[in-house]
Amino acid sequence: PPAESPQVVIDAHGLPYLDTKAPIKKRVADLVSRMSLEEKVGQMTQAERAALKSPGDIASHNLGSLLSGGGSVPTPNTPEGWAKMIDGYQLRAQATRFQIPLIYGVDAVHGHNNVVGATIMPHNIGIGASRDPQLAEKTGAVTASEVRATGVPWDFAPCLCVSRDERWGRSYESFGEDPALVKSMETMIKGFQGRANGSDLDRDDKVLATAKHFVGDGGTAYGSSTTGSYTIDQGITKVTRQELEAVHLAPFGEAVRRGVGTVMPSYSSLDIIGDDQGPVKMHADAAMINGELKKKLGFEGFVISDYAGIDQIPGDYASDVRTSINAGLDMIMVPNAYADFEKTLLAEVSSGRVTEARVNDAVSRILTQKFKLGLFEKPYADTANSDKIGGAAHRAVAREAAAKSQVLLKNDGNVLPLKPSQKVYVAGSNADDIGNQTGGWTVSWQGSSGKITDGTTILQAMKKAAPAASVDYSKDASAPTSGYDVGVVVVGETPYAEGVGDVGNGHDLELSAADRTAVDKVCGAMKCVVLTVSGRPQLIGDQLGDIDGLVASWLPGTEGDGVADVLYSKKPFTGQLPVTWPKSEAQLPINVGDASYDPQFPYGYGLTTKATGSGSGDQALVTGARLKVQQKAGGKVTAAWAKPFAEAEHLALTGDYKGALKKLAAAYKAA
Ligand code: BGC
Repeated sequence: PPAESPQVVIDAHGLPYLDTKAPIKKRVADLVSRMSLEEKVGQMTQAERAALKSPGDIASHNLGSLLSGGGSVPTPNTPEGWAKMIDGYQLRAQATRFQIPLIYGVDAVHGHNNVVGATIMPHNIGIGASRDPQLAEKTGAVTASEVRATGVPWDFAPCLCVSRDERWGRSYESFGEDPALVKSMETMIKGFQGRANGSDLDRDDKVLATAKHFVGDGGTAYGSSTTGSYTIDQGITKVTRQELEAVHLAPFGEAVRRGVGTVMPSYSSLDIIGDDQGPVKMHADAAMINGELKKKLGFEGFVISDYAGIDQIPGDYASDVRTSINAGLDMIMVPNAYADFEKTLLAEVSSGRVTEARVNDAVSRILTQKFKLGLFEKPYADTANSDKIGGAAHRAVAREAAAKSQVLLKNDGNVLPLKPSQKVYVAGSNADDIGNQTGGWTVSWQGSSGKITDGTTILQAMKKAAPAASVDYSKDASAPTSGYDVGVVVVGETPYAEGVGDVGNGHDLELSAADRTAVDKVCGAMKCVVLTVSGRPQLIGDQLGDIDGLVASWLPGTEGDGVADVLYSKKPFTGQLPVTWPKSEAQLPINVGDASYDPQFPYGYGLTTKATGSGSGDQALVTGARLKVQQKAGGKVTAAWAKPFAEAEHLALTGDYKGALKKLAAAYKAA
């Protein structure tokens, strides 16, 4: 804490809301009853910390919350730098009449990714590939511990998007295309928050989570707008009521059951087929936020807008504010013109277009979470765990996650696993690049190539796993001369966070020209394995015949050692495709359950380098049957077996093992 301030707020007022023994409900009601309208509106306001005109505005505007948007980092960008910065802001909040602490939020979507040196987990797509709910929980717990140790009690994660079309540039933030898979990975919320009743939130290693983006962010249509083909990010999700519920709403029901503290609406619009309403911006969708989320699902936390999300609502700013608050948004990520927002909301309340009852409800929801987090008693950073940030124990979890996320798609002649005795030629744009390996939302918003943080690249990890002298490297495969036992070409994407992905770099789901050339050169000269380091499937069908081994590495994070663990058989490959791997762009969107389903590799596909399946009981039976189908097919995927195979994966996730085995029997016959 800043030197001039005590860690525990002195009970100067002696007011009931400061009584730590009173139930939170009572404390909230007492505090709200004392607050002025200005103070309440302030609580509903979240400003970007870099947009603060002066730190004194925290008190003079009664700001309830600050955020660091991607890249809005302190100098120095270290754990201490973060704690000091946030403590300084909290000190300002202590200068308000009721000493209401700020709730500070960041996007820690795969580890504490804004902080240099933090442990970076695989992005969600890789966690989905692991099919391991306990792992998802562990990665959430590590993230929470690193985040809270820097004074941040709130994380805008996890993304519960169900990615239905991988041309969407945020597909990597999705656990997968199947809502059952997404639901199974929501153990991550427990990792962040602890128990569902919120009783762990005041711990020094827990944070408030955010289920985002409500609802249908992963279901937007590609190329449907007159403005061009790239409306898929922040576009329109057009679905039947039934599809909306089964695919996109289902993960939010699970999040509410898990006690998630906050929900963030999506930038996208929802167009329910048959309701004759046309597309409605989610930030304005009262039926969904008030109706579905708060009333029907019984969500008791608070709803935080996306970054300037209300600005996209048609109409002037007063209408944006009125419409969004009346639709059920409780706090607005303004994030820049916070004074305008406050002024506008005050005017809307004064005129009665927004009721004070609505404001009281919003503020009560926000304060409830602040009390649960223990912020009134401990507003300043508790840095007891800060020496664990980026430490060995946390990196071990990230390494395990990286290993479990690897999906082996092809393994002709058992080219994998590699043996330490083999002479290996490594090439490709993503073999030795920690920035590309971690992807977007790493240190900066969009992420960037190069040595942006601490970690181990795949190349470095391979050199650790085998005698370093047996591993040669040339990024562009300049001289793949003979004498090598096997080539490993690590290709894929350069980092991006939002939008349509790295299409701006000249490719969509296609490999870059340089990567294609590297594959051609290496695979033309020797036995070869290709690793795709990317947030989504890469279209490599035309080169597949020349490739002996293919691994989907996703965006594995800072621990390249996890990738080397499976390459060199320290661990078996166990990952399964979290999304369907298409043959061509023309097939998109392609998802399990489609009538015509003829993918390159079906949803759930994933060979193993170990004969036995994982899991126990029924689950192990299903895994065993799955592997048998894949073995029989011998790498030849046909629509006849791919469809029942993918459907079996879905059934197994919903607990219908009998149904899954039946489907797999059909797939086996057809293979
Ligand atoms: C993203 C959100 C994120 C927010 C705050 C937005 O651009 O859509 O996912 O939480 O920024 O950084």
